[in-house]
Amino acid sequence: MILVMDKSATEADVKKVVSLIEELGFQPHVSKGSERTIIGVIGDERKIKRDQLSLLPHVENVIPILRPYKLASRDFKPENTIVDVAGVKIGGKEIAVIAGPCSVESEEQIFQTAHAVKAAGAKLLRGGAFKPRTSPYTFQGMEEEGLKLLAKTREMTGLGIVTEVMDAADVDMVKDYADMIQVGARNMQNTKLLKRLAQIKKPILLKRNFSATLSEFLMSAEYLLAGGNNQIVLCERGIRTFVDYTRNTLDLNIIPAVKQLSHLPIIVDPSHGTGRYDFVLPMSRAAIAAGADGLLIEVHPDPAQAFSDGEQSLTPSAFQILMREIKALAGVMGREV
Ligand code: PEP
Ligand code: MN
Repeated sequence: MILVMDKSATEADVKKVVSLIEELGFQPHVSKGSERTIIGVIGDERKIKRDQLSLLPHVENVIPILRPYKLASRDFKPENTIVDVAGVKIGGKEIAVIAGPCSVESEEQIFQTAHAVKAAGAKLLRGGAFKPRTSPYTFQGMEEEGLKLLAKTREMTGLGIVTEVMDAADVDMVKDYADMIQVGARNMQNTKLLKRLAQIKKPILLKRNFSATLSEFLMSAEYLLAGGNNQIVLCERGIRTFVDYTRNTLDLNIIPAVKQLSHLPIIVDPSHGTGRYDFVLPMSRAAIAAGADGLLIEVHPDPAQAFSDGEQSLTPSAFQILMREIKALAGVMGREV
């Protein structure tokens, strides 16, 4: 349920209602809007009567949230959430571009890529040190050594670092190196990992599982929100369909759907979404035209030699062209890169 406070409610009034909710055995989540404050009341709703809430001081309205996700819904927070990743604001006017190799492979490779993406205008660098590979016989990532290289690259370039964590046991280590932690598609419903990530004060990039419905995707975000982490950026990265000319089918429909139902920002990963370097630019354009808050793009100095996902990686010069095109399109959309 959500409580809508009246316009005259002061901070002290909100505090009072919050402690009354706690006394009732429920978990309050406060969302301060420009006009009003909304308090999400999370807990077993069978144990509470609507009147117990509507009679609280300065409570103007009590609205049940019928959808399974509560804190992720726009009913709870009508204004867009803006997530700050190393100074880059995702979810506002700016279109954020996160670029870099699929995997961190060596010092030279990550430095070279970082300099190239920075020169093209990206402010955030991605690179996997823990890789969720389909085959156990392929490169699994450099692990902590890769994280150290990412941290060194941040020092040299000033780029913010986005990297994946696959296991709850590694969260403490990864969080010390990353500016944003990626939850990969395969781990979207790893609830133990989500609960652990909810406890840390770092932005999370939550990728959609390739078979997840919109509701399941938002429920995974709900795990993070319910546990106390509201710095979440959603990422559409393609879903499984019968289509066989691309690696996945990029579900751009989800952008307006998320914008209607949730306050969370959503970015698009056309690299995994298509699996083809030659489709990355057109689908990046489409994502921005559909209202995406950013892009995740795989870039490699020598895609043919990449340890993973070379077939979908852009060369530095192709990435430069993409950034130029995206900048022009952002202007048309009233946004900026
Ligand atoms: C990745 O970003 O390199 C990755 C493994 O993505 P996904 O989890 O979407 O497959
Ligand atoms: Mn990849």
